[in-house]
Amino acid sequence: MKATSIVEFVRDTYKTDEFIPLHAPTFNGNEKAYVMETIESTFVSSVGKFVDDFERRVEAYTGAPKAVATVNGTAALHAALYMADVQRGDLVITQALTFVATCNALYHMGAEPIFVDASPVSLGLCPKAVDTFLSEYAEVTETGCVHKQTGRRIKAVVPMHTFGHPVELDELVAVCLKWNITLVEDAAESLGSFYKGKHTGTFGEFGAVSFNGNKIITTGGGGMVLCKTQELGLRTKYVTTTAKVPHIYEFFHDEPGFNYRMPNLNAALGCAQMEVIERYLQQKRQIATGYSDLFSGSDFKFVTEPAYAKSNYWLNAVVCPDKESRDEVLAETNGLGVMTRPVWQLMHRLPMFEHSICGDLSYSEFLEAHLINLPSTPTEI
Ligand SMILES: *Cc1c(COP(=O)(O)O)cnc(C)c1O
Repeated sequence: MKATSIVEFVRDTYKTDEFIPLHAPTFNGNEKAYVMETIESTFVSSVGKFVDDFERRVEAYTGAPKAVATVNGTAALHAALYMADVQRGDLVITQALTFVATCNALYHMGAEPIFVDASPVSLGLCPKAVDTFLSEYAEVTETGCVHKQTGRRIKAVVPMHTFGHPVELDELVAVCLKWNITLVEDAAESLGSFYKGKHTGTFGEFGAVSFNGNKIITTGGGGMVLCKTQELGLRTKYVTTTAKVPHIYEFFHDEPGFNYRMPNLNAALGCAQMEVIERYLQQKRQIATGYSDLFSGSDFKFVTEPAYAKSNYWLNAVVCPDKESRDEVLAETNGLGVMTRPVWQLMHRLPMFEHSICGDLSYSEFLEAHLINLPSTPTEI
């Protein structure tokens, strides 16, 4: 597979000779009208109808009993971990192959990550690897699951649905039950991705979605906490909006809260984007099929959705036969104005997480050296 064939395919798909980014937002629906409406009404900030409207739309779409809009996906994750009662000194199991936000959120809860390998089935957290790690290093006690060597509690498992491909959720839920650990999903990349017909982010106690500018739909910046029950949802809303006790004029807050509420201005954009998500999903599926055909018969392996899932194909990815060909494709495509990029450097290599506890990470390391992300903006084909 020559880099020039990739460039040719991408240029053909996007029908432009200009620079082609990895993932850009598009606004062809009611975005302008809804955003203008907030400006004309002056309700651009923490009060206004679009926040509620957006939350209800995401609930209807994902099937989450309660969704709480936040300022960004990292804040959604932070709030989710707070609500899951992750405490200072706790350990949290997650994957080394993720975007740094997953780890930043648990770090700011005073917790530390345990890095476990990715699954060849999903590229996300591997349930077998989690169980193997726990069998070797943990025990279930009265206070929960404990890491034997350090005596610290392993409070949560945080899988991330890499590039939108759902992790093996049945198996992960079972592992969490077996070890008495809370499941919190980093569903930042997987709005529109379903596991056996059920939306990602609704399997754990909480799921966190992102609406950053490079995600499948955007609110400029934004996020959403998907909550397993009404009660958890109401409490999440309460703590993310300064924990203010309702009163006509008094200011009384009965616990430390966050100011993580999404502004109405951003929610307006989100409402309009939710109206077109189905079209984006169809277009992204078509683009993925095109890539799949392009790479079929070559020694480059295009990443497809797991058999149990319907993925949003947020970021298309291909696994190169060796690191040399990966570097060559990266250099040539970027040189020709078609943006491609390697996957994130593994989390245990970053200075703030380099002393973290790790399981075997050989598949993550393989992906780190071989995987490339390809342009994935939804477009008419
Ligand atoms: C985008 C993303 C987030 C959070 O994103 P924000 O930029 O804070 O909205 C978290 N985790 C993963 C894996 C992501 O890709």
